[in-house]
Amino acid sequence: MNDVKLDLLGMTRDEALAAARERLSRGAGLAAAIHRIAHREGRLDPECLGASPRSADSWREHFSVGGASIVRTIDERDPTRGSPTSKAVLRSVDGAEYETVRIPIGDRKESQCVSSQVGCAMGCRFCETALLGKRRDLDAAEIVGQIVVARRELRWRPRTVVFQGMGEPLDALPSVQAAIAVLCDRNGLAFAQDRITICTAGHADGIRRLGELGLRRVNLSLSLNVADDARRKALMPLARRFTLADLRDALIAIRPRRNWQLGIHVCLMPGINDSRDDARAVAAFCRPLGRVMVHLIPYNPGSRPLARAPSEAEIARFVGWLRDEDLPVRRRITKGRSVMAACGQLGRTGPAPDGKEGFPGQDSNLN
Ligand code: SF4
Repeated sequence: MNDVKLDLLGMTRDEALAAARERLSRGAGLAAAIHRIAHREGRLDPECLGASPRSADSWREHFSVGGASIVRTIDERDPTRGSPTSKAVLRSVDGAEYETVRIPIGDRKESQCVSSQVGCAMGCRFCETALLGKRRDLDAAEIVGQIVVARRELRWRPRTVVFQGMGEPLDALPSVQAAIAVLCDRNGLAFAQDRITICTAGHADGIRRLGELGLRRVNLSLSLNVADDARRKALMPLARRFTLADLRDALIAIRPRRNWQLGIHVCLMPGINDSRDDARAVAAFCRPLGRVMVHLIPYNPGSRPLARAPSEAEIARFVGWLRDEDLPVRRRITKGRSVMAACGQLGRTGPAPDGKEGFPGQDSNLN
């Protein structure tokens, strides 16, 4: 007999049915309903489905539903917006802590940013998570569990999910792939693939492997920041492994569908990547990639600032230069600045300190 409990949050309904048939001598017929309640309500509750005590015991002996608990939550309230931007810190049964963020979109919608790893090995110099190093990948149940536990305990109702929290998702692709299968299971949380976005720091091998998975409607964003190999290597150590040419080739090859749009993230850092030539280089990189949307993210200095924050005039000037190059551009709205809730800020808990030593505003999603 296998002693290891299976977490239903890491399983599609079909996988749960197969496991129940294999492991249980009684009560396997309840598997579909138990799986549904596990995903929608975050609990293992055979009794509410009429299971006998022995059957319920058997379920609990072999299966679990999520092991992580919420350690703390921090909200950033903005009177001009409806819901707050919120960060939740979760602790797994092994003590590992990781974070997930609810990002309001307009008055009524929200997106949830999930972590794929505890810490991160990529070492991006603008990112607080990088200072932790990578401790381990999260498994599929821990990734899905971020959404399930936030639904149950915090009443979050994300319409979209972005893999943009702690970790490089393409460095944890087996877990991310399994989590996407579970999230998109129509018998569970039933997210459409096009409501899910993977954000990579530029893992070209991961992009190629992602392409082989046939997830035709899942969205992808690249954290480009600077389209110059030497400076990109200085900012993002992953660029030493994968050059811009590698990335371009991988991105051209992946195109999963005709109208696919790739997200390109540029974190604007004065004196580092904000010149007219930088805008031209971004455009030159994007040109062979087909349909793209550039997301311009003003840099906010963290605990080890690389630069000052750009002024509104500098942001507008760079946006204008990109548009002069015929690139579609969106300027990210700052959210979560005071509570360390942006992607590049995750891994530090508690409110951002005030003043010079603090971690001032970071636009949501730096990855
Ligand atoms: S920006 Fe993303 S990939 Fe880079 S260190 Fe931070 S979490 Fe890792």
